[in-house]
Amino acid sequence: MSQILIIYTGGTIGMMSDPVTKVLKPINFEQIMDNVPELEKLNCKIKVHSFEEIIDSSNMNPEIWSELAGLIESHYDDVDGFVILHGSDTMAYTASALSFMLENLAKPVIFTGSQLPISAIRTDAKENLMTAIEIANAKKNDRARVPEVCIYFDYKLFRGNRSFKYNSSKFEAFRSPNYPILAESGVHLRFSVNDIRRPGEEPFVLHKNLVNEVAVLKLYPGISPTVVAATLNADVRGIVMETFGAGNTTTDQWFIDLLKDAIDSGKVILDISQCKVGTVELGRYETSKQLKDIGVANGYDMTFEAAVTKMMYLLGQLDDPKEVKRLLEVDLRGELTVS
Ligand code: ASP
Repeated sequence: MSQILIIYTGGTIGMMSDPVTKVLKPINFEQIMDNVPELEKLNCKIKVHSFEEIIDSSNMNPEIWSELAGLIESHYDDVDGFVILHGSDTMAYTASALSFMLENLAKPVIFTGSQLPISAIRTDAKENLMTAIEIANAKKNDRARVPEVCIYFDYKLFRGNRSFKYNSSKFEAFRSPNYPILAESGVHLRFSVNDIRRPGEEPFVLHKNLVNEVAVLKLYPGISPTVVAATLNADVRGIVMETFGAGNTTTDQWFIDLLKDAIDSGKVILDISQCKVGTVELGRYETSKQLKDIGVANGYDMTFEAAVTKMMYLLGQLDDPKEVKRLLEVDLRGELTVS
């Protein structure tokens, strides 16, 4: 019988309303199991690892990502797949980070959670949990059907590093507009075979070292030199710059000069768009041509979540900013499409 490891980190799925304060607080995994007697009927064995400290995912951080990735590595040979229960607020960040940390992954790592606690009458948690387990357990010709880090939510399976939390009040919490969904569940569970990554023959490798020396520069008309300089001069090695449209910025000389100084001093600047759909095209407009010339990295159609975690991952692997810049522009785990 196949085995699935459920790792419980926290999130609304495992919260209960405090009878007095009415505030949502995490509960332990046994209480979750009591709400899903259907788990007994699955045709796989379930192992559970519950984090010692159950958290709201707003408290997630790279140290916990390393712990999570380490846990996956230590059970990698014993189980057929992983289901990670996680709050939806930062789920896309954790899924993106893990996609970079788990190289040559050949087993499913399926994140899920819910918008309503599992004990609530109208909860979305049960369907999310049961189908996430089914996906983690799904095989064809003895090989995992989805050997990727994914998010399963509201009947859809998304590539983790292509998704972001889109809605905080509907069950449809996630979207991945720049990449097709990998599976859809309804009467049948249908996999989009051609959109799912196929693992190579290389062995699985864990990369635990993430470096959080990253700043974010979100542009807006009227941004001042003081604000831009403060961000670029912060004690960081990488800057994710959220630009307009297809990767455009102001062409004001002071702005270009500040970016160039930062790059010349050894910092890496990555250009991603504030648009949720579409891609950065450095050099298409006059307003992005100079960025390309001074060595800004092209983030193509990466999500913000993938951009930040990929920067942390690459800074943790490499010292040479030119190498970091080069690899930011390369599709490492299906996180971007070079156009
Ligand atoms: N605040 C919760 C969390 O991210 C929301 C959720 O679980 O959906 O932990």
